[in-house]
Amino acid sequence: MNRDFLSIVTKLNESKHILVVGHIMPDGDDISSVLSAKIGLERLGKEVLAGIDWRIPWYFYEFEEVNQIMTFEQIKESGFKPEVLLILDASSLDRIGRFQEYFETTNVFVVDHHATNTLFGDHNWVDTKFGSTAQMVMRINNELGVPYDENLATLNLMGIATDTGFFKYSNADETVFSDATKLVSLGGKVYLVSRIFENKRIEQFKLLSIMIDHLKLEFDNKIAYSFLSKADYENNNCSEDDSGGFVGELRSLKGVELAIFLSEYVTDEVHISFRSKDWFDCSKLATILGGGGHQRAAGCSLKGDLHVIVEEVIREAKTLFLTSSRSSVNLAE
Ligand code: AMP
Ligand code: MN
Ligand code: MN
Repeated sequence: MNRDFLSIVTKLNESKHILVVGHIMPDGDDISSVLSAKIGLERLGKEVLAGIDWRIPWYFYEFEEVNQIMTFEQIKESGFKPEVLLILDASSLDRIGRFQEYFETTNVFVVDHHATNTLFGDHNWVDTKFGSTAQMVMRINNELGVPYDENLATLNLMGIATDTGFFKYSNADETVFSDATKLVSLGGKVYLVSRIFENKRIEQFKLLSIMIDHLKLEFDNKIAYSFLSKADYENNNCSEDDSGGFVGELRSLKGVELAIFLSEYVTDEVHISFRSKDWFDCSKLATILGGGGHQRAAGCSLKGDLHVIVEEVIREAKTLFLTSSRSSVNLAE
């Protein structure tokens, strides 16, 4: 058994007041992990608050438990004094936003599956073998003896399903399927999870068409990229939440190895998502640009003019693509 896993479980068991936090720009794995840990620890009689320092995309509210996730302001105002800060799915301290404030006064436990994790906690259980952090939370809950019902099983399943692209990506290994099977046998419902994403507003279709209008291809169609400006969102009554999954559409193009989607979520602040198909290391590119992530999915955020950032990022991507493909077995094609 992993030493950090055991110390985290032991210390969680001994603690009474726990603050569970996830990362900024939260995704399904993050929300699932935070809620599964919060609800699990509460079932053991602990006082637990959960926080994410970012707006949660509207479609996750299909699960009413998402309302339990508090803002930074709400947690500050509550006067809660946690002994433990449990940080989930975040690869570095800056990823938790203003919750960094609790770093000095708490015992910090980090549970994550990113290769780019900086091991910034007092105890760090970081294992890149897991397709999702939700599976790691499931192990913590099991070790602590947390009882599962349908709700908890479905919430926990959400992280596994979303981080593996609903069991389609290369991280969908045997453990992913056996963990999912276990949660399904406990009452977890994949169809309830997938419904979150099959609940689109018509405005999102329009936004997608604009993203496709902006699409450009490079290197014999091996790199596909596109962008949306703040104005594109506003003119279509959308926010950046509404473009979740667009980068996956770019990657789905035949022949594309690297897909890049740039999203101006605040004027002059751009989030960039990278996705690759077979060999390109997205985390390397994201790290060069100040972000992080996994080999097949990574991201970063940059400040400045959107069109300047598009140029910069594509230049950097092309350079790395050329130097890495030189040593790649796939170059022959
Ligand atoms: P995204 O493209 O935002 O869906 O993110 C893809 C992956 O990269 C996820 O695992 C994120 O947690 C990670 N990621 C995204 N942005 C950053 C960042 N600025 N720093 C570190 N990791 C990131
Ligand atoms: Mn995440
Ligand atoms: Mn994750």
